[in-house]
Amino acid sequence: MKEVPKPKKPLIFYYGAVLLVLMLFNLLAMPWLAQRQIREVDYSTFIQMADDRELGQVEVQQEENQILFTDKDNTAIYKTGMMPDPDLTQRLDESGAKFSGQIIQQTNPILSFLLSWVLPIAVFIAIGQYMSKKLMERAGGPNAMAFGKSNAKVYVQSTQGIKFADVAGEDEAKESLSEVVDYLHDPGKYRAIGAAMPKGILLVGPPGTGKTMLAKAVAGESNVPFFSMSGSEFVEMFVGMGASKVRDLFRQAKEKAPCIVFIDEIDAIGQKRDGRLGGNDEREQTLNQLLTEMDGFEENTSVIILAATNRPESLDPALTRPGRFDRRVPVELPDLAGREAILRVHAKKIRLDGQVDFGRVARMASGASGAELANIVNEAALRAVRGGRASVTQADLEESIEVVIAGYQKKNAILTDREKQIVAYHEVGHALVAAKQTNSAPVQKITIVPRTSGALGYTMQVEEGNHYLVSQEELENKIATLTGGRAAEELVFRSASTGASNDIEQATKLARGMITRYGMSEDFDMVALETVTNQYLGGDASLACSADTQTEIDRQVVALVKKQHAKAARILTENREKLDEIARYLYEKETITGEEFMEILNR
Ligand code: ADP
Repeated sequence: MKEVPKPKKPLIFYYGAVLLVLMLFNLLAMPWLAQRQIREVDYSTFIQMADDRELGQVEVQQEENQILFTDKDNTAIYKTGMMPDPDLTQRLDESGAKFSGQIIQQTNPILSFLLSWVLPIAVFIAIGQYMSKKLMERAGGPNAMAFGKSNAKVYVQSTQGIKFADVAGEDEAKESLSEVVDYLHDPGKYRAIGAAMPKGILLVGPPGTGKTMLAKAVAGESNVPFFSMSGSEFVEMFVGMGASKVRDLFRQAKEKAPCIVFIDEIDAIGQKRDGRLGGNDEREQTLNQLLTEMDGFEENTSVIILAATNRPESLDPALTRPGRFDRRVPVELPDLAGREAILRVHAKKIRLDGQVDFGRVARMASGASGAELANIVNEAALRAVRGGRASVTQADLEESIEVVIAGYQKKNAILTDREKQIVAYHEVGHALVAAKQTNSAPVQKITIVPRTSGALGYTMQVEEGNHYLVSQEELENKIATLTGGRAAEELVFRSASTGASNDIEQATKLARGMITRYGMSEDFDMVALETVTNQYLGGDASLACSADTQTEIDRQVVALVKKQHAKAARILTENREKLDEIARYLYEKETITGEEFMEILNR
């Protein structure tokens, strides 16, 4: 409970409430509880007892017009009404009883002590305990019985057995991290030469690329304890709590050194501190504490801090300066070979049919992250179970990619005949334009089965190899392919439909990127007109130019898309017969493969 400022307002409430309870208790309940049982008898019994000399103490209460008396052993109290009795004093005298004004204590002294002192204090403490427990639960989750404790999950000894071999692809990241493993195995080697390991390593990359897995694998390989905590877990309701958690985490880590501390989603606390009024005090204090702690421990204490984020650009520069998180390990989306390797790793967990072509599946799943690939394999296994099969087939894997990309097949969506025709022409339009432009990727599959994502059909294109550079011509061809669907509709039905909204969006994005970011327009040359703000999360861009230039950009984007649209229309007009033939075939079969498509095209 150290160094945590006590919350003020709740405490006042709590004292007030207890005081009120005590006052009410003393006022109402005490007299009632403390009263000893009084037995009411008639006057003759009193006289009888006096005559038999059985009275102990007698108290005459003139005002109340009653007499209280006890028996000889003082065990019970009796009460009787007063009668006009001139001999009373003499009678009492003779009976040997003690009598005077107030001698009978109606309350039991021990009981009254217990009730007025011990009980309230006990109640006080009990309420206090209850309230502080409640407060702590509110402040720090279920196991925050101690204020400001770090509640980091500690995995001691080879975290769940995850090793580098379990993380497929990501060879560059693994290489960079294996140095850390080596250091944790034999720090002496590094110390001897005077080399210092970076204190912090930042893993950056899109979601689901295996950052958490890599961190665990480092701990698994080096066989050291692994503390894992998410950045958001530090941020608390009360200012100072997060900082206290950071202190506690580092204290634990230093005790357990050598060890690895992993902070996931570090952007939750590591965001740039801006001077805005009413900023997030708690977050800033937590960040300051983290910075201080990282400075505080000497080099070579064998505590390595790994952190993961997918928004590296939002991190505070103080966090990434040398001496803190000075090494940055990019964990990118897997390439073709990486995707295949990841599929193989996850396929080990399921029973597979003999002939599964992982290369083909990996090619179809272009752009998928490791987590998505894991999901695809699992979806395929679920599909096999649903189909009552004993093992997962190639078809299961391919269908599950479509499920991940476009959602499940819509079983009861009924398209009218004309709609179905339009969709067929639309999809064949894309495929035909793609195939006729030499640089476009070959078509893998065309389908007009509606999906739950809202797509009425789609053309799946497959990249043959990895592309690191994309030429201007390829980009233009892509835009032409995207406009191909609408161009086919216009050519055949002489009208437009809403089916092309997604194509339009993508084509515009590409065209805009060409002009504002890739310097592919004559007028602007190599001037950056747009900056990408969120590289790993969708890549939003913000314009950085004057209003006049914006108008010009818009004009050029329109011109570029129009040109490609015209090109697509030309290609389709030239191949009108093939367009009709393939569209009719697709209309009948609903799904055709790339081979069938090429076969008809080259017939
Ligand atoms: P991140 O932390 O980058 O968001 P995770 O490490 O939590 O992603 O990965 C989520 C899941 O995705 C993992 O549990 C694993 O099943 C799968 N995965 C991601 N990348 C890989 C990879 N390179 N090799 C094997 N599995 C991976």
